[in-house]
Amino acid sequence: MRLESIREPARDVPVIAEPDVLVVGGGAAGMAAACAAARAGADTMLVESYGCLGGTLTIVTLGGFCGIHAVVDDERLGRVVGGLCLELEDRLAKVDAIRPPKRHGKIVGVPYDSVRFKGVADEMLEAHDVAVMLHTHAVAVMTEGGRITAVIVENKGGRRAIVPRVVIDCSGDGDVAVRAGAGYDLGHEGETQYGSAMFRLGGVDTVRAGQLTRPEIRESLERAVAGGYPLPRTATGVHLNPIEGVAHLNVTKLGRPDGSPFNLVDPVELGDAEREGRRQVRMYEEAFRKYVPGFENARVIDIGARVGVRETRLVHGDSVLTEAQVRACEKPADAIAISSWPLENHGRGRTTNWEFLPDGEWYGIPWGCLVVRGFDNLLVAGRNLSAEHAAQASVRVAGPCMALGEAAGVGAVACLAHGGDARAVDVEALRAQLLGEGAILTPDFG
Ligand SMILES: Cc1cc2nc3c(=O)[nH]c(=O)nc-3n(C[C@H](O)[C@H](O)[C@H](O)COP(=O)(O)OP(=O)(O)OC[C@H]3O[C@@H](n4cnc5c(N)ncnc54)[C@H](O)[C@@H]3O)c2cc1C
Repeated sequence: MRLESIREPARDVPVIAEPDVLVVGGGAAGMAAACAAARAGADTMLVESYGCLGGTLTIVTLGGFCGIHAVVDDERLGRVVGGLCLELEDRLAKVDAIRPPKRHGKIVGVPYDSVRFKGVADEMLEAHDVAVMLHTHAVAVMTEGGRITAVIVENKGGRRAIVPRVVIDCSGDGDVAVRAGAGYDLGHEGETQYGSAMFRLGGVDTVRAGQLTRPEIRESLERAVAGGYPLPRTATGVHLNPIEGVAHLNVTKLGRPDGSPFNLVDPVELGDAEREGRRQVRMYEEAFRKYVPGFENARVIDIGARVGVRETRLVHGDSVLTEAQVRACEKPADAIAISSWPLENHGRGRTTNWEFLPDGEWYGIPWGCLVVRGFDNLLVAGRNLSAEHAAQASVRVAGPCMALGEAAGVGAVACLAHGGDARAVDVEALRAQLLGEGAILTPDFG
């Protein structure tokens, strides 16, 4: 008979650190959260499962940094994210790892070099005096009466405890919050946006490829479908890399055999998604070579170290960013970050559903979306914030995630003055501090 469970023996776990602020996850949100907390004077530690910082930006790789700019009057670009994002852009520029913002119709991406990004991220966190522990996975949480008392991590050294005063969960999947017992939604009624395996093609005629519009690429890939390639997605853009002859492709769509999206926090499905991603990359490589102008000699040179995860657990916070608020471009008085990115939903079918906000419009994200319901000293930032599925489809891109992280970092330090209580934070003062650090809470589109 198969065992249902076994009991682990109780044991003493060495305490390796007692930081003021512990950030779990070193993606866009976690990097910004940690730098902001340290900049505000807190003893700050960041733990990250992988061997580098950047999260989706480096481990998965992206075509561009999105959500930093809005298109205004169909002709100008206006910034909606400043603060630490701007510092990161400046640092990337110094090592020639970023290109000017590029418009793709109504959206804007900032191409960057995901390899140089890793070194820049190391330097940025070091400059802000953040203690970074890589290859360290948060696996358990100890709580007492709505407070996190310790976060248990595992790494090559074994099982260790960190005893922080405030925790910011930037794991993307709400790992800390959920292990602490917080409520969450898995997408909308259990169905999330689809993940994608990201890849780069070398040997691309970037002059020809750079002239292709999204409709032209779609048309070419639809011809590939008609020619016998069962491509799950044909709507995409080509993101030219800062490296000559290299294009970044965000075109795969990871679904189960029945076509529904994988649950990417289920370990078995996550493994299936990795294998399916690699299978699709091979198929797209062939289809691009045969059907898309400029790609005749293209070859895959790189696949993300893990599949890209757009959406898993949306942690329940004191406030929830709703679809209605995003569509109405609401600007609440307690907004600690803003976004103008469209509702970009990677749902069923071969296309992506884009719903744009009115030209030059934006919405605010309330502080309560970062405060985990039922806990005093636990914040969330990044793609696992408290939001409805359709609202998350707009706020989840890297620029707004950095803005959310920065707000969480500054907010965490404000909590410290109140015994770590996130509800005691003076949000008006928090907003003023963020503005003082160059964050954008009301964009100036001139
Ligand atoms: C396929 C795809 C394409 C996208 N395209 C774009 C694009 O072109 N431009 C754009 O701006 N955005 C894009 N996005 C969205 C954007 O990249 C991400 O949503 C955003 O970067 C998320 O940042 P994050 O910090 O919240 O989470 P993540 O980037 O997911 O970072 C979370 C980090 O936490 C770590 N972690 C997780 N669990 C633990 C744990 N238990 N212990 C320790 N560490 C942990 C992870 O290793 C990771 O480094 C895309 C996303 C996907 C999936």
